[in-house]
Amino acid sequence: MINLLDQDAAGLAAFFAELGEKPFRVKQVLHWVHQRFAGDIAAMTDLSKPLREKLAAAAEIRGPVVVSDTTAADGTRKWLLDVGGGNAVEAVFIPEDDRGTLCISSQAGCALDCGFCSTGKQGFNRNLTTAEIVGQLWHANRALLADGITAPWVEQGRAPITNVVMMGMGEPLANFDAVVRSLRVFLDDNAYGLSRRRVTLSTSGLVPAIDRLAEACPVALAVSLHAPTDALRDEIVPINRKYPLAELLAASRRYLERAPRDFVTFEYVMLDGVNDAPAQARALAELVRDVPCKFNLIPFNPFPGTEFATSPRPRILAFQKALTDAGYVATIRKTRGEDIDAACGQLAGRVLDKTRRRVVRIRPATPAPTAH
Ligand code: SAH
Ligand code: SF4
Repeated sequence: MINLLDQDAAGLAAFFAELGEKPFRVKQVLHWVHQRFAGDIAAMTDLSKPLREKLAAAAEIRGPVVVSDTTAADGTRKWLLDVGGGNAVEAVFIPEDDRGTLCISSQAGCALDCGFCSTGKQGFNRNLTTAEIVGQLWHANRALLADGITAPWVEQGRAPITNVVMMGMGEPLANFDAVVRSLRVFLDDNAYGLSRRRVTLSTSGLVPAIDRLAEACPVALAVSLHAPTDALRDEIVPINRKYPLAELLAASRRYLERAPRDFVTFEYVMLDGVNDAPAQARALAELVRDVPCKFNLIPFNPFPGTEFATSPRPRILAFQKALTDAGYVATIRKTRGEDIDAACGQLAGRVLDKTRRRVVRIRPATPAPTAH
């Protein structure tokens, strides 16, 4: 039994070929599932009854199981979705005047262990399947429509979700195949039909996978930089020990040769007294000089047990000014859905850690000296 939410067009083509059905069925079924958000094969009324029966014997539409559904004072809405084995992940809807953005998770937990991230602190359980990733978008659209969402683009016949950011739980590039297959469904005109510019993947910097993404499906890229030097980034984004800044910046530059946007977004979480000094902003400006980019400064969102604090507002503004003075566009991310723990880095879900006791050291015990 296949789950139709698990398949991109190529997968469906193979499936229908096996059933001895014509290729145009792919388009029909994609429409039903991803544009009309059918929850059941029986609903596909332009398929003959015998075909629906044949299909129902081999396939199903199995959406996520919702554990909780919470709406914040600012309209941000968070779904906690069961992914089996005691694990649950979160998807967050962020409404704005001209768009509806969905922040999607790619893994149950995350193994990369950035110290300022609640997901990272949970540990890692497993990769999500394509059905579990696409299911977040399918479910959000469906739920928002069922609840009668009013938005100008919905009145014009578009789906409630106009933009997708892979910035929820997990490192998307560490779940490459399932994520790329999901991205293809997001972009497919017969499915969600989102333009590449409306789909953003955020990575902490898995360099070889950035190159592979450029080949496979170059959506808009956001890179979590967070520090201007290897010494500091090694501490707060441990994957830096494996792929240091010079390699990450070179990969970001290469990505733009294939990407739909002519810039990379560098995300920078503002941690009080750690990475937020004006001199660090100037070093950062220098560091990324060769990469066409924009900065997105993210005020740190605290979570229980964290040792970090949020940079005071004047410090964030001074950091932003240093970057704009150096000629960059730097925006400060608005914190949304804080009252329901739906802000960046607060997503915790429910993760049964399978890795903590056997964390792989990615660097020899004696670190090589670094000049700074
Ligand atoms: N794993 C990917 C995507 C998920 S996190 C990545 O790291 O890029 C999305 C963004 O939120 C990243 O830039 C991440 O560094 C940032 N983030 C994590 N924890 C945060 C926190 N507590 N406050 C603010 N931003 C945070
Ligand atoms: Fe993982 Fe991203 Fe959190 Fe780091 S910031 S632990 S890479 S989800």
